[in-house]
Amino acid sequence: MATSRGTDPFAESEDQQALRALARDVAQRAVAPPARDADLTGELSKDAVAALAAADLFRVTIGEDWGGLGLGDVEAAIVLEEVARQDVSTAICCQLAFNGPSRGIEHLGGAALKDRWLPRVADGEAIVSIGITEPDAGSAVQDMRSALVADGPGRWRLSGYKNYSTLGHLAEGILVWCRWPDGEGAKGIGAVVVPMDRDGVALTGRHWGMGIHAATEAEVAFDGVVVTEDDILVAGEPTTTAAFKVLLGHLNHERCGNAAMCVGAAQGALEHAVRYMNERQLGGHPIGDLQGLRWKLSDMAVQLEGARLLLTRAVHLAGPGGTPPPLETALAKTAANLAAKLVCDEAMQIHGGYGYSHEYPVERAYRDIRGLCFGAGTVEAQRNFIGSSVVAGRTTVSPGWLDPLAG
Ligand SMILES: Cc1cc2nc3c(=O)[nH]c(=O)nc-3n(C[C@H](O)[C@H](O)[C@H](O)COP(=O)(O)OP(=O)(O)OC[C@H]3O[C@@H](n4cnc5c(N)ncnc54)[C@H](O)[C@@H]3O)c2cc1C
Repeated sequence: MATSRGTDPFAESEDQQALRALARDVAQRAVAPPARDADLTGELSKDAVAALAAADLFRVTIGEDWGGLGLGDVEAAIVLEEVARQDVSTAICCQLAFNGPSRGIEHLGGAALKDRWLPRVADGEAIVSIGITEPDAGSAVQDMRSALVADGPGRWRLSGYKNYSTLGHLAEGILVWCRWPDGEGAKGIGAVVVPMDRDGVALTGRHWGMGIHAATEAEVAFDGVVVTEDDILVAGEPTTTAAFKVLLGHLNHERCGNAAMCVGAAQGALEHAVRYMNERQLGGHPIGDLQGLRWKLSDMAVQLEGARLLLTRAVHLAGPGGTPPPLETALAKTAANLAAKLVCDEAMQIHGGYGYSHEYPVERAYRDIRGLCFGAGTVEAQRNFIGSSVVAGRTTVSPGWLDPLAG
C-alpha cells in the first residue's frame, strides 16, 4: 500500500484492520474488566472467554473445513496483540487455539485428529494443551523420557510425565511429544494427541507461578495410556531425526504468538505509563514534563517498535499456509521478550509506588510477560540459535526487499 512515506510492505489490509478493531473492542469491553479478579483468584473469566468465542475470535487460524476462518500468522498476531494488551492469561487461550496443538493438528495430523479436535477448538469449547517439557528435559527436549511401547498392531501404550502444560487443568486434550520404540536422543521423537479423560491420564498438579495466574501450567502423568493410529500427530522414526525436526520447525508459529503477546502487553503498559505521566502532578506540573521520565518513554518506544517490526516481518514471511522462518522468528521472539521486560518494568517505575500495587494493571503485565520469556524456547535458546546462524554467515531478508548483503 502506498502512503505519504512511500510503500509500506506491512500495511494491514481492510480485513486485517477490521479484525484488529473487533479484537480491540472485545478485549477492552470483555477481557480487561475481569482480568484483575482472574489474576487474584487464578480462574479465567468465563465471560471473557465467552465473549471471544461469540466474536469468532478462536476461529482465526483454523481452516474453514472445520469451522475456522482459515487466516494466518499475521492475523493471529493481530488478535494476540490486542488481547494481551489487556490481559496475557486470556490471550494464552487464543494462543493455544491459533498457534498451539490445533495448528499442528491441521498441518500435520490425519482426518481423525482434525475432526475430533478442530471444530471444538474453533467454537471455543475445547482447549488442547501442550506437553513437551519434562522434569529432566526442558531446553534439552531430546532427553525426554515419555515413550510409547508397542501393544499390538497399530496400538501403543504411552507412559511419561509432563510438568509444564499451560491450561492443562482446563484442557480436553493434550498434545504429547514422546519417543517411539527403539528411538534414542532426538531420533524417534514424535507426537500424539490424547483426550485428558482417557484411562491412565492424570492431572497431578498445578503451578502457582509469579504471573499468568489465570492460565497456569499443569503437571500431567501418563500411565500406560492406550494410543492408536488415530491419535498420532507425527510418527517418530527411530533411525532419523526427521519427525523431531518437523515438530521443532512448527514451534515457530508458537514463538511468533509468544512475541505478539509480549508486544501487546508492552503496548498496554506503555499506554498506562503515558496516561499516568500526563495525570500525575508533582509541584504543580505533570510528571510528563520531567526529562528523565521522557527518556524512559523513549527507550521503551525504541525497544517496543523494534520488536514489533521484527515480529511483523516474521509473520509476513510465513505467507498463506506457511510457517514463519526460524532465524527471523528467533530474532522476533528474543526482541519481544526483552522489550516487554524493559517496557513493563519502566512502566511500573513511572507509576511510582502505585505501580507496584494490584490497583494498577502494570504490575500484572510485568509478572505475566516474565513467564513468556521461558515458554516456546527460552531467550537463551533463541540466542544460541541466532548466534550460530550469524556465525555461519546466514542473513535475514524482508518481504519485497533484496538481501542487503547479496552481491
Ligand atoms: C509460563 C510458562 C509456560 C509454559 N508452558 C509450557 C507448555 O504449555 N508446554 C510445555 O511443554 N512447556 C511449557 N513451559 C516450559 C518451558 O518450555 C521450559 O521452562 C523451557 O523450555 C526451559 O526448560 P527448563 O525450565 O527445564 O529449564 P532448563 O532447560 O533446565 O534451563 C535452565 C536455564 O539454562 C538455560 N539454558 C539451557 N540450555 C542452555 C544452553 N545450551 N545455553 C545457554 N543457556 C541454556 C535456560 O535458558 C534456562 O535459563 C512453560 C514454562 C513457563 C514458565
